[in-house]
Amino acid sequence: MSPSQSTPLDSYAMACRQLDDAAAHLDIDPGLLERLRLTEREVTVNFPVKMDDGTLKMFTGYRVQHNDVRGPFKGGLRYHPDTDLGEVRALAMWMTWKAAVVNIPFGGAKGSVQCNPKKMSRGEVERLTRRFTWSIASIIGPERDIPAPDVYTGPQEMAWIMDTYSMIKGQTTPGVVTGKPLELGGSLGRFEATGRGVVIAAARAARHLGRELENMTVAIQGSGNVGGVAARYFERAGAKVVAMSDSGGGVYNPQGVSSAKALACKNQYSCLLGREVAAEDISNEELLELKVDLLAPCAMEGVLTEANAAKVRAGLVVEGANGPTTPEADAILADKGVLVVPDILANAGGVTVSYFEWVQNLQNLLWSEEQIGQRLEEIMGKAMDEVLAIAGEKKVSLRTAAMILGVNRVAEATKLRGIYP
Ligand code: NDP
Repeated sequence: MSPSQSTPLDSYAMACRQLDDAAAHLDIDPGLLERLRLTEREVTVNFPVKMDDGTLKMFTGYRVQHNDVRGPFKGGLRYHPDTDLGEVRALAMWMTWKAAVVNIPFGGAKGSVQCNPKKMSRGEVERLTRRFTWSIASIIGPERDIPAPDVYTGPQEMAWIMDTYSMIKGQTTPGVVTGKPLELGGSLGRFEATGRGVVIAAARAARHLGRELENMTVAIQGSGNVGGVAARYFERAGAKVVAMSDSGGGVYNPQGVSSAKALACKNQYSCLLGREVAAEDISNEELLELKVDLLAPCAMEGVLTEANAAKVRAGLVVEGANGPTTPEADAILADKGVLVVPDILANAGGVTVSYFEWVQNLQNLLWSEEQIGQRLEEIMGKAMDEVLAIAGEKKVSLRTAAMILGVNRVAEATKLRGIYP
C-alpha cells in the first residue's frame, strides 16, 4: 500500500482483503495488483452553502475515481453524516469490479458529501448539490465520470447536477448523470433496476440451491430505493416478505408484511410502524437474525460482522447493499453453509440500467421498458452463470468467484492497454 493510502478505514481495508483473496487465484504481477488496489484520483472539496437562516455552512465532499481502464468512471453519490474518504474509496473500488462482472464498459468511482439531508430543507439540499457539482465539474462528464443516485440521493439530486453541469458547459448534457427523472432523459426501469436485479440474482441463487423464490420467506433490511423495490419484486415472484426495516428499526410478521402498506406507512410517517402494517416492531439486529429462507441486507456496509454472523438463520443472503458483510462474517457464514450472493453481482442491476440510460442519452434514443427488462435479465443471468461456474470450478465462495471474474477483466484490459510511455 502506498504511504498516501496507509491508514485505510474499515471499508477500504475490507475491499483490499477481497481483492487479495481473488488475486490469489489469478496470475497477476504484483505491480499490477498494486495499481488495482490504489485509486486513480481522490478529490476532497470543502465548499460553502447558504443555509435558510442566512448563515454560511461549510461542507466536505469527495469524489474518488478508482479505475477507468475499461471505460469512463461511473458511480453513485451518497449524502450521509458518517461518510468519509475510506468509505468512498471502497465503494469506488467495488464499482470497478461490479461493472466488469456484468461486462459493462464503465470504470468505478464514487462520491459523497458529509451532511444530514433529513435535517436540511429542500432548498438547502439543492444549493449543496449545485455547489458540490460546481466543485467537481472539472473531473466529471459524460465521457469522464458519470454520477448516479446512492444513499439519500435520487432523481431530483441528479436533475440538479445535470442542470448545474449543463450551465457550466453551456449546453444541455443529460449523459453527465444517470438515474435522472424520465422528463430529463432518465431511463425507463432505472429506478427499479437495482432492486429488480437483486431479485433476479436471488432467483438464480435459489435455483442453484434447488429451490424457487415462490413461498420463500424473505427479510429485507433497508426500504429505500433498493430494499423497497426489491420487496415489491420478491412479492411479484411469489416470495413472502416477512420483515422490512429502515434506519429506525423493522417490522415483522411471519404471515407476511405487505410492502405496499409498509412503504405507504413510510411515506406518511417517515418510519415503519408495526401497528400500521399489522406486524410487530423489531430492531435491525433482530431482523438480521430472523429464521427466514432469504436475507437481503439493502441498507449500509458492515452490518453482518464477526459479532452476529453466527446468529444468521437464513440459508441465502443476497447483498442489495454495498459491503454489508465483513470478511470475518463471510468466513462464519461459509462455515454454516449459508450461500452469499455478493454485492458486486447482486446489486449490479443499477449500473447495468445506468449504462442503458447513458447509451440512450448519447444516441438520443428511448428504449421501451420491455427492452430494458429483457436486457437486464440477460446480463444479470449471464453474470450469475459465469460466477457460479467459477465458484464451482475453483471451489471458492460466490464473492471470490465474482471478484475473480471482475478483477481478471480489469487486469486483462490493463495489460492490453499497456503503460504509456
Ligand atoms: P436509499 O437512501 O434509497 O435508502 C436507504 C435505506 O436504508 C433507507 O430505508 C434507510 O432508512 C435505510 N438505512 C439507513 N441506515 C440504516 C441503518 N443503519 N440500518 C438499517 N437501515 C438503514 O438508498 P439505496 O436504497 O439507494 O441504497 C442502499 C444500499 O444499496 C447502499 O449500500 C447503496 O450503496 C446500495 N446500492 C444502491 C444502488 C442504487 O441504484 N440506488 C445501486 C447499487 C447499490 P431511513 O429511510 O430511515 O433513513
